[in-house]
Amino acid sequence: MSRNTIMIVDDKDIGRDILAAVFSRDYRILMASDGLEAINLIDCEKDNIALIILDIIMPVMDGFDVLDHMHKTSLISAIPVIMVTGQLTPDISLSCYSRGAFDIIEKPYDISIVKQRVNNAIELYTYKNHLESLVSEQTKKLETQASELRKTVKELRISEERFRIASVHSSSIIFEFDVDSQEGIILSGSGRLSRGELTQVSFDSIISRLHPDEREKVQQMIDRVFSGSDEERCEVRMRGLNGKNTYNWYIATLTPIRSNDGETIKILGSLRDINTQYLETADLRSRAEIDMLSGLLNRATCESNIRTRLENTNRSKYSAFILFDIDDFKSVNDLYGHDIGDRAIALTAHVIRSQFSHSDIVGRFGGDEFVVYLENIPGEDILIRKFDRICRKLKNYAETEEGFPSLSVSAGASLFDSTLPFEQIYKEADTALYDVKSSAKGGFETFRRNG
Ligand code: GH3
Ligand code: MG
Repeated sequence: MSRNTIMIVDDKDIGRDILAAVFSRDYRILMASDGLEAINLIDCEKDNIALIILDIIMPVMDGFDVLDHMHKTSLISAIPVIMVTGQLTPDISLSCYSRGAFDIIEKPYDISIVKQRVNNAIELYTYKNHLESLVSEQTKKLETQASELRKTVKELRISEERFRIASVHSSSIIFEFDVDSQEGIILSGSGRLSRGELTQVSFDSIISRLHPDEREKVQQMIDRVFSGSDEERCEVRMRGLNGKNTYNWYIATLTPIRSNDGETIKILGSLRDINTQYLETADLRSRAEIDMLSGLLNRATCESNIRTRLENTNRSKYSAFILFDIDDFKSVNDLYGHDIGDRAIALTAHVIRSQFSHSDIVGRFGGDEFVVYLENIPGEDILIRKFDRICRKLKNYAETEEGFPSLSVSAGASLFDSTLPFEQIYKEADTALYDVKSSAKGGFETFRRNG
């Protein structure tokens, strides 16, 4: 919208005509011959008028009344008014300026000065109005932003409240770590960390509660979060989170909060107690894998574990697969009864297990037959020594336990330093065992590959 109109208010035709002639080339001209006519026109044309030239003394309504009207309707700040008078006294000047007139010109006019003063006034007001409209636009923008901000704050409050209620009902511990300060706050479930409601917690205090075997794993999770992962999750053991100082199983989840430029500034974590489920699953797993009578791995698990080791081991020394079989076990059952037979199986299993290390695989293959798989041995001698100790222990037991049969076992082994299939090592050990059984029960033999 551009203001292109000059309004000339004068009761004298001649006065209006002179000014109209001066400005009609550059402006649209509106004319009024008294104050009342003027204010009616101003109200209609207020958005088009660039300037008003206003005579003071007029019939019906004088120039001062027009100024007062413009003041009341706030138009005086948007449209510059230049007063014209035949007699300029200090009182008149004061009355004009105090009512908001921009300038006063005394008649008779010097046309070029009037032109200049009109142009100055229009230029100044155009600039002023432009600035005011900029300010008003900015104000509107700021108001919109402020109202959006108020809305966001309100939504945030609601979601915080939702989170608070959810966390009260959650069984998880939820915490947040600030990467810079290495300080953390517990957002929920703090009662599980200590007796009181703890809110502050350090990074080290969380790490110190981890089972030592789990620390490396958790450090790797944290490293992956810093390298760009959006969520990390693993099962960990931690102590001191259930009121007792024992280790419990938890699912730990870590989620990064990143800045706009992708830097990880906070890490949100949760610890969900899965101890009961974990122990139940572990119990089921172990029931499916363990032979109940001997306490050793059952045949299927044992064979599968040995196959896995055969595929994945880089052999620098010998590995061995040994088959043990109790001698004349049928007669143990026949002479002592099935219960004693069962105890004999359990005892033999225990004695065999005790001779081998934790990393060796020991299992019951069925009936009175046991297998052992071990790696990284220098040769056959160590197997013979272990076998002798097993035989001695079984004999000792029969001597100290009244009514318990004297047990002896035979064993056949496959010794190898290259990767062989399970079928082959089983066959070799079985052949060696068969040789022992058919020649000298109670002995140990290693399969000879070249005759
Ligand atoms: P050998 O010296 O040739 O091995 O003779 P053996 O009598 O031990 O014969 P074999 O190993 O073939 O027989 C194993 C016997 O073990 C057969 C079965 O009656 C007995 N047996 C198998 N499983 C169990 C069990 O769980 N409990 C008991 N008490 N006996 C079992
Ligand atoms: Mg037997």
